Amino acid sequence: MRIKSTLSQEQLPKNYYNILHELPEGVPPPLDPKTRKPISPEALLRLFAKECIMQEVSTQQYISIPEEVREAYLRVGRPTPLYRATRLEKKLKTPAKIFYKREDLNPAGSHKPNTAIAQAYYHQKEGTERLTTETGAGQWGSALALAAAFFDIALTVYMTRSSYIQKPYRRILMEVYGAKVFSSPSDKTNVGRSFLEKDPDHPGSLGIAISEAVEDCVTHDNTKYSLGSVLNHVLLHQTVVGQEAKEQMKEFDVEPDYVVGCIGGGSNYAGLSYPFIGDKLRGKSEAKFVAVEPKAVPSTTKGEYRYDFGDTGEMTPLVKMYTVGHRYQCPPIHAGGLRYHGKAPSLSLLVDKGLVTTVAYTQNEVMDAGITFAKTEGIVPSPETNHAIKGAIDLALQCKQRNEEKVILFNFSGHGLLDLKAYEDKLAGSLEDYEPELSTIRQALASVPLVQ
Ligand SMILES: *Cc1c(COP(=O)(O)O)cnc(C)c1O
Repeated sequence: MRIKSTLSQEQLPKNYYNILHELPEGVPPPLDPKTRKPISPEALLRLFAKECIMQEVSTQQYISIPEEVREAYLRVGRPTPLYRATRLEKKLKTPAKIFYKREDLNPAGSHKPNTAIAQAYYHQKEGTERLTTETGAGQWGSALALAAAFFDIALTVYMTRSSYIQKPYRRILMEVYGAKVFSSPSDKTNVGRSFLEKDPDHPGSLGIAISEAVEDCVTHDNTKYSLGSVLNHVLLHQTVVGQEAKEQMKEFDVEPDYVVGCIGGGSNYAGLSYPFIGDKLRGKSEAKFVAVEPKAVPSTTKGEYRYDFGDTGEMTPLVKMYTVGHRYQCPPIHAGGLRYHGKAPSLSLLVDKGLVTTVAYTQNEVMDAGITFAKTEGIVPSPETNHAIKGAIDLALQCKQRNEEKVILFNFSGHGLLDLKAYEDKLAGSLEDYEPELSTIRQALASVPLVQ
């Protein structure tokens, strides 16, 4: 029986696929928090690579991938294989067919190099000497550190304090690639110092680390900032995943009925799903789209679709997205990559339009799913990926109840070999589940500016 599809070097996609081409009404633009007017692309130049800003607003359907980027993709293992989870199917006794796209098989261990490599390349072309960024769990920091080493750019990473302590090996990985890593909140920035004054043991948050990285960027010459999710150009770079998966599903002679993934900022899910959503919008696919978030950070399931700051320190533009509020205190769940308060604007729009449905699970539920996956398919997934796996398993169990032979495709966004602490806690029975009351979220949303 066929269980694996690999593509040849020649089949590596030559273009990124741009969903904005299919959305004629466009995604609501980022706003200047003071004037409440759309930010001009020029204003973003202080932070991002020019090419990334052009991509951010482009409605061109395909944007070509530079040869140097394709070479780096090949070097880190693209095209990635797609597997059928026959052992998991047997274990579940489901008639459903489950497929997963392996984005864990590169040196950084997650899908994040897909955009890190592209961004580092554009920065090198444009003469950037140093990049700043934030990292939660450390996967984004590792990916950008790898890419910065490839393209010879210095990198400063603000790593949320809780992860800095919990995940020393992620920090060391970044340092091996040459990055400078600070625990956030740090004493390197005004924002960081202000949080440290209030609480010297502040655990940090992705929102605070973003504020620090942005402040470091705008206060230093020849320094730019790089974001690992949420923005249009980041999601665009991830579409190599879905384009490859489309070819691979053809090799298996199937089309997905469900496309599933976990959502932090939304980039890995967009990467897999947007090429399929494009087909659906053109009337060429009947697939359903299911995105999974943690119950502890329920942006789409309990939050609101409205303009909010991208960071806790209120330094970024206002972005229209599903959010639990930029001051929401994200509980310390192990899926650090899913602790961001908002979701990507394009994905938020698709959720609002009903094209993508969302579900939420607790961390114990998803870790159980991850352990079942490890025992059957042999791979230890990251806690983030376990959300996608739980979503896929639940759909497969529904198929069993209805005796339906549906095809489920999910994104295996990363491995968990540097997240074994999560498994240690799970096996010891000491994992806590967090689920905010609606009143907590209303309170966090009360500090979000009202924009009509
Ligand atoms: C960062 C990360 C995520 C969440 O980020 P998205 O932008 O939503 O993809 C999910 N899985 C893994 C393994 C990650 O590293």
